[in-house]
Amino acid sequence: TGKFFVGGNWKCNGTKDSISKLVSDLNSAKLEADVDVVVAPPFVYIDQVKNSITDRIEISAQNSWVGKGGAFTGEISVEQLKDHGVKWVILGHSERRHIIGEKDEFIGKKAGYALSEGLGVIACIGELLEEREAGKTFDVCFQQLKAFADAVPSWDNIVIAYEPVWAIGTGKVATPQQAQEVHVAVRGWLKNNVSAEVASKIRIIYGGSVNGGNCAELAKQEDIDGFLVGGASLKGPEFATIVNSAT
Ligand code: 13P
Repeated sequence: TGKFFVGGNWKCNGTKDSISKLVSDLNSAKLEADVDVVVAPPFVYIDQVKNSITDRIEISAQNSWVGKGGAFTGEISVEQLKDHGVKWVILGHSERRHIIGEKDEFIGKKAGYALSEGLGVIACIGELLEEREAGKTFDVCFQQLKAFADAVPSWDNIVIAYEPVWAIGTGKVATPQQAQEVHVAVRGWLKNNVSAEVASKIRIIYGGSVNGGNCAELAKQEDIDGFLVGGASLKGPEFATIVNSAT
C-alpha cells in the first residue's frame, strides 16, 4: 500500500571520492517515477550529496539528537539536518540498538521530536536470531512499535522498516514469506493499537540483505511496500534495480 519507498542506508561508508562517483551513478540512473527514493549518507557527506544529487532523490540522516541542539557533544540536531535540506531520519536501526545501546524509549522520543519538527521518520524494528528462534519475533517487533506509538504525535510521516537483525549484512535475506508474515503482523498491531486508517495507509518496507537479485520476489508480496538497503545501496546501478523492482 502507498507509494513504493526505497531507501539507501550508506551507514559508515564512503569517502568524498567514492560518494562523488555514487552520486553521479545515481544521477544518471533511470528511476521509475512512482517510487520515493531516499539516500542516507554519513553526516559529514550530507552537504556534498545534497549539493550534487538530483532533486529526484531525497536525503535522510542516519540518526538525530533527541531534542533541540545545545551542549551535546558529538550529536547532530534535527534543526541542523533541516538546515541542510534533509527530509528524513532513520531511527531505531538495529546497529544503534544493539551496538550503540539505544533503548526503545529513547528511540521513541527521538522519533517524536523529529516528527514534531517536520522530518519524516524511517522507524526501524526487528528481532535478533535468538529471538526468532525462541518464537518471539512478533513480541519484539510489537514492543518496539509500542515505544514509537507511545511517543509520536501522528503516523502520517512515518515509514516502518522491518529489518530482522539476522538478515542485516549477512547475505541471509528473509524469504518473501517470512517478511510478508511480519509485515502483516505489524499492520495488524497498528490496526488494533493505532487505527485502521494508519494500518492500511502506512508503508512497511523490508531491510536485510536486499540486492538486485532478490528484490523482485520480495517486492511482489502484498505488504512489502519498499526496501531499506545497506550494502547494495553503495552500488548505483544495483540500487536503481532495487528502486525499480516493483514495476
Ligand atoms: P544490508 O542491506 O547491508 O543487509 O543492510 C540492511 C540495513 O541495515 C539497512 O538499514
